[in-house]
Amino acid sequence: MSAHQLIIIGSGPAGYTAAIYAARDQLNPIVFAGEPSGGQLMLTTKVENFPGFDQGILGPKLMQIMRQQAVRFGTEIINKNVTRVDFTSHPFRVFVGAAEYMGEAVIIATGAEANLLGIPGESELMGRGVSTCAVCDAPFYKDKVTFVVGGGDTAMEEANALLKFTRSVTLVHRRDKFRAAKILQQRFIDGHSDKVSVLWNTELVKITGAQKVESISVKNNKTGEEKQLPSDGVFIAIGHKPSTEIFVDQLELDAQKYIITRLGLSQKGLTLANAHLDENKLIKFPTMTSVAGIFAAGDAVDFRYRQAVTAAGFGCMAALDAQKWLETKQV
Ligand code: NAP
Repeated sequence: MSAHQLIIIGSGPAGYTAAIYAARDQLNPIVFAGEPSGGQLMLTTKVENFPGFDQGILGPKLMQIMRQQAVRFGTEIINKNVTRVDFTSHPFRVFVGAAEYMGEAVIIATGAEANLLGIPGESELMGRGVSTCAVCDAPFYKDKVTFVVGGGDTAMEEANALLKFTRSVTLVHRRDKFRAAKILQQRFIDGHSDKVSVLWNTELVKITGAQKVESISVKNNKTGEEKQLPSDGVFIAIGHKPSTEIFVDQLELDAQKYIITRLGLSQKGLTLANAHLDENKLIKFPTMTSVAGIFAAGDAVDFRYRQAVTAAGFGCMAALDAQKWLETKQV
């Protein structure tokens, strides 16, 4: 079996952008797009912050266009989930069930998933009043009544993003204390007491609406009291989970299982054992992981920005790094 020059695992903005760059560079990439394919944008409706679409574009449509663009330059796409990888020898091995593929280099762009509550109405109304990204969707909630579930840094940032637009933001938190950094809490709550309130010790139990969110049901977990509240939007901010299970014993991951790249470490003033500096004291191959020849991009690496455009940018970087590395295979 001959090895592919480049295997890309994942088909969100990072994976497809990597494929566009690699295919145009004649690396003949093969993308394992997964099932379902397309990543988190497949769960959204209108995307207004991806440059190039002045009137906005539906998330699934944007992914379809990116996919077509990758295919146009010769990318092969397989709509299957990779089930196992072996990066301990070169060429690298990637498995889909019993089928085995080999790659000279691999880009991982498997993304992350927002954690969900699993309550009635949540999945049904996703993209129609339920969202996991206020930075993306806040402008759709001008003068609306909104709720944010969670008490971590993300919840504070989501609430902050909504404040500029909405009539009100209510945080729904299951405990009586936030987990978020004090500074984020203060910025959000103390500075905006007119618009912001908190439901402590409270759990969201149901989201209701016909075509879009109309109300929510919450329960105080100390008193057992339940009530229904009118709502236009519910933002679920209870953490994310990177899709990196199959890499756990193959690559260095951080405590939350995000993939560690040289760029990530250099921002902390550290380097991976395989990270070399070039003559200008720059990290070579910023998107390379702990294994030389394996690169990573997008939300599987980046818990900070989590935007389609930043994922696409990382995908581009990974493809350029992979292309350069394939020329010499030196780290
Ligand atoms: P997080 O810190 O894990 O917080 C998750 C929040 O959701 C917690 O308040 C948790 O409640 C709540 N929660 C979890 N499961 C729940 C459930 N089933 N029902 C109700 N509530 C639930 O996650 P995050 O806020 O996404 O942050 C992830 C990481 O990114 C953190 O390390 C964070 O510091 C970092 N981050 C940093 C920044 C920044 O520096 N500006 C911004 C965003 C994220 P409990 O508190 O009761 O556990």
